[in-house]
Parts: sequence; structure tokens; C-alpha cells
Amino acid sequence: MSLLAGKVGLVVGVANDRSYAWHIAKSLTEQGAQCAYAHLPGEKNARRTEKAIAKIHDNAWLAPCDASSDESLDELFAAYEKDHGRLDFLVHSIAFADREWLQPRMFAKTPRKAYLDAIDISAYSLSAMAGRSIDLMAKNGGGSIMAMSYYGSEKVIQGYNIMGVAKACLEATTRYLAAELGEHNIRVNTISGGFLRTLASSAVSGTDRMDEAAIKHAPLKRGVDGSDVGKTAVYLASDLSSGVTGENIYVDCGMNILGG
Ligand code: NAD
Repeated sequence: MSLLAGKVGLVVGVANDRSYAWHIAKSLTEQGAQCAYAHLPGEKNARRTEKAIAKIHDNAWLAPCDASSDESLDELFAAYEKDHGRLDFLVHSIAFADREWLQPRMFAKTPRKAYLDAIDISAYSLSAMAGRSIDLMAKNGGGSIMAMSYYGSEKVIQGYNIMGVAKACLEATTRYLAAELGEHNIRVNTISGGFLRTLASSAVSGTDRMDEAAIKHAPLKRGVDGSDVGKTAVYLASDLSSGVTGENIYVDCGMNILGG
């Protein structure tokens, strides 16, 4: 069964084959979707993304994008529209915070620029991408936008610091976007993924024992696998989730339900 046959979309955030975005793209592709990709500017980043995607499918469409630049976002969406003509789904799987401030007991010292950069790249960029997606999605009857969040948006996770604030902002941004874009049949949701060893998660101090903690404490007695999130992304990109918008869906083997 191909749940996503005929659907075409943009995946932002594949750095390598451990990225959440890579697992999402793999699952979407397996269900018949056609994915295009954006990577951070630079030859090295392009090669790294291209190499990872080659493990999923051939002939990937790739374009550079620095989500902190309006000009770069404009170029990405213009190039995507020119070559594809339709946008059924958009995957936002990016985040950034200077790792110097992702240390225990450093939150109160976070400089203004580091704080605002984290919010800009990790949360505002969702709004910036959604705004550039509306017309193209609406042209074909709507679409699905999804972004990656984490439980540190709600509860204090040691060392997560400004990323926790950025994720809270991302989740609120999702709700406001969902309320506004619903009239175009554009749905906007977040997936709150469990801990996965990636480039981004390695920036947060104190994650060494997260895998062990999941095996010991999570209701499912294991850590999350990228494909767990990939399968939820399939649900969100597909018509199976036609009535779901503004939600935050936990895919964390149940870790978030625990009180102690
Ligand atoms: P990753 O390092 O593989 O992906 C992060 C991506 O962000 C990279 O592709 C990077 O190029 C991109 N990025 C950073 N700054 C950018 C910018 N200025 N413009 C464009 N792209 C930029 O790590 P990941 O863990 O797969 O992270 C993907 C998403 O999943 C992030 O939002 C992250 O917060 C979220 N998440 C991760 C975990 C985890 O444990 N790994 C858990 C929950 C949520």
C-alpha cells in the first residue's frame, strides 16, 4: 500500500543518515512520496546531504538554504516551485543553538545574540517557511507542514536550556500557524521525538546516558528509533491525519508520561 503516492514535498534538515529528517524522508519515500531537499549552504554540506539521500533514492533534488536568511529562504522556495509546481508536505527538521550555552547552569548567562539566534533558526524559521508555502500548497487543495520538537519545551531538561525555550516557541508557532492556515486546508503539527544520537543532539551536554535511561524507564523499554518518527511523519503527510492540526504528537516510547 502506498499512502503517499502522488505527493510531492520538501524536506529540510538532512545532515547525514542519522538525522531525524533522513528517517522521515526514508519513510515518506517508502510510501510513494517524492521528496526534495534543502541543506545548509556550502559544498561540504551539499555532499554530505547528497551522500545520505543516495541511500534512500537516486536523482535527489537539492538546494542550499540558510534558514536565518530571508533571501536564502526566498531562493529556496522559488527554485522548488519552479521545478516541482506543487507542495503537498513540508518537513521542518532543523534547530541550532550555540553549544557553549547548552551546559548545566548556563541558562541565565545566555547572551542575547545566542538566545535570539536559537529562536530564529529553530522556531521563527517554521513560520518563515510556512508563509512561503501557503500559495503553492493551497493551489492543490492544501497540504501538511510538520516540525520536530522535544519534551524540553515543557519540562526542564538539564543542559537543554535555550533549546527548550526555542521548542516552546516552535510548538506555540505551530498552533498559531495551524489556526491561520486551516482555511487553506493546510495542517501544521509538531512531532515531539525521543532522544536520538545525531549531530544536533550531541551539542547538548549530559546526553550520554539518555539511551540507557530510555531502556530502563520508558514504558516501551527502549529508546526511540528514527523509523518510529518516520512512520508518524507518514501519518501526518497522508490523508490519514486529515482532521489533525495544531497538535504535538509524542513519539518517545512513552517517556513523556512519566512523573518520576
Ligand atoms: P541533525 O543535526 O541531523 O539535524 C539538524 C539540522 O539542522 C541539520 O541538517 C542542520 O544543517 C540544520 N540547520 C542548522 N542550522 C540551520 C540553518 N541556519 N539553516 C538551515 N538548516 C540548519 O539533528 P536532528 O537531531 O536530526 O535534528 C532535527 C530536528 O529534530 C531538530 O529540530 C531537533 O531539535 C529535533 N529533535 C531532535 C531530537 C534528538 O534527540 N536528536 C529529539 C527531538 C527533536
